[in-house]
Amino acid sequence: RSDPSIQQHNSLPCLPPRRKKPASTPRARRPRIRTAKPASRELLLLTSMAATQGASDVLSIDKVDFLKLQNGSDIRGVAIAGVEGEPVNLTELVAEAIAAAFAAWLLNKKKADGLRRLRISVGHDSRISAHKLQNAITHGITAAGHDVLQFGLASTPAMFNSTLTKDAINHCPADGGIMITASHLPYNRNGFKFFTSDGGLNKTDIKDILERASRVYEESAHCGKQEQTGVVTHVDYMSIYASDLVQAVLKSAGNKEKPLEGLHIVVDAGNGAGGFFVDKVLKPLGAVTDGSQFLEPDGLFPNHIPNPEDKAAMEAITQAVLNNKADLGIIFDTDVDRSAAVDSSGRELNRNRLIALMSAIVLEEHPGTTVVTDSVTSDGLTAFIEKKLGGKHHRFKRGYKNVIDEAIRLNSTGEESHLAMETSGHGALKENHWLDDGAYMMVKLLNKLAGARTLNPNIGSKVLTDLVEGLEEAAVTVEIRLKIDQNHADLKGGSFRDYGESILKHLESVISKDPNLNKAPKNHEGVRVSGYGGWFLLRLSLHDPVLPLNIEAQSKNDAMKLGLAVLAAASEFSALDTTALNKFLQQ
Ligand SMILES: [Zn+2]
Repeated sequence: RSDPSIQQHNSLPCLPPRRKKPASTPRARRPRIRTAKPASRELLLLTSMAATQGASDVLSIDKVDFLKLQNGSDIRGVAIAGVEGEPVNLTELVAEAIAAAFAAWLLNKKKADGLRRLRISVGHDSRISAHKLQNAITHGITAAGHDVLQFGLASTPAMFNSTLTKDAINHCPADGGIMITASHLPYNRNGFKFFTSDGGLNKTDIKDILERASRVYEESAHCGKQEQTGVVTHVDYMSIYASDLVQAVLKSAGNKEKPLEGLHIVVDAGNGAGGFFVDKVLKPLGAVTDGSQFLEPDGLFPNHIPNPEDKAAMEAITQAVLNNKADLGIIFDTDVDRSAAVDSSGRELNRNRLIALMSAIVLEEHPGTTVVTDSVTSDGLTAFIEKKLGGKHHRFKRGYKNVIDEAIRLNSTGEESHLAMETSGHGALKENHWLDDGAYMMVKLLNKLAGARTLNPNIGSKVLTDLVEGLEEAAVTVEIRLKIDQNHADLKGGSFRDYGESILKHLESVISKDPNLNKAPKNHEGVRVSGYGGWFLLRLSLHDPVLPLNIEAQSKNDAMKLGLAVLAAASEFSALDTTALNKFLQQ
């Protein structure tokens, strides 16, 4: 056999033999819950336990399409049965195969360093499928002869950090890290993010791992029972990680002992993994944290979706700030790679405003630097970064990894960039190894607060609010999602992607004939147009047959004029569902 991929195939570890159900056995009937909103907590936990006892009973999968589990640079799937139309595809056996494949991929990468036995850190967020997937991943890695460091409840950025930490007593640095999370998605989903000391894996790496996993999975049917030769060690890594964050704030406050003393900061962890920030970061720094909420992990997310882009989530933290008369509110997503804040007056510091705030902080440290953002940032943000802060705004594509990679690329071409941020609340700094860390971003705000308090002990979050003074904001901001019907005859059997591209092309030519509209001179994604004192962006979703349309304007009337321009071009495409846009125009 000369095909290198086949050689790779042979070197992959076997998984324990799969239990196969006889074809004639009727599929076990399980309680069905119609919506993604949990109807009964007990029922769900029972379903989850049943799934733990026999993942292969949930769905008889002999052929698993591993590549369908790819979501850009992450892996995502359904881990819990019970939601109609969403069969489990992230079973324990699938997770084991993926873990073994990651180990094989990593070993291949580390071969040059002479490594033969790896140490892989594994952590998880608060999802109800976390433990069964953690066990499966551990099994997959130890069966391949590698060691596992189990961190338990952890944040995504901490997993990357564990590949950099030098701490022999706690077995760090790890050679690689796996985070079990599906960020803000509903309770039945889960997924994996992978890290090495170079950062998060990219799309090509994930595809490679899934292809390897598919082969591991197929082979596992022919293998005998595998010995677990790897060692599992439990490490309280979140304490190590949190103490690094504390040190960063102490340093910027000139090593004052309790630099946040007297400041009242409330945290909303949304029952995700972010609760550590209160006990392990804020309290040691001296802050009062009374009124913090939803700190206890609960994978059914009973209070609100842990997502700083979610309206209800932002309302919850805003209310907590006002009720407690706090100086600042902090909110994290489930796995703490995203965050947002609220000032003492209840003003949200998220989306464009958070990017403006972080830009102000970073541009004070690095004058003139380039800030890379995703494509849906406002024109007001560009004006703020370039005219007020004297920096450069490089508006790129959607997708946090795209934004981060673009900033890294700019640096490699000699254009200095220190900040990459997405409106979703993902933000990465060069000084923090380009890691998108929601907790580190909040630490940058705390640094600012602590620094200001050494000069004026009575100053609260005003120091932050003042930094975004002058940011122009649109009165009307909407995102409308236009779906493409993939089975429609108008696609003529082609892909939704090609169809979407032809809509964008047509829109571009329509715009060029309209004297009131101007195409953005520099644009990296979709069609971005300014006019009527506002702007719109129509782009193709990264993964779905959807064209999201973002409009910002100073009045509803102006926003409607922009919407009408899009509708005029889109109406010729019968497979495009414009209902949502029509509804907006008729309001
Ligand atoms: Zn996240």
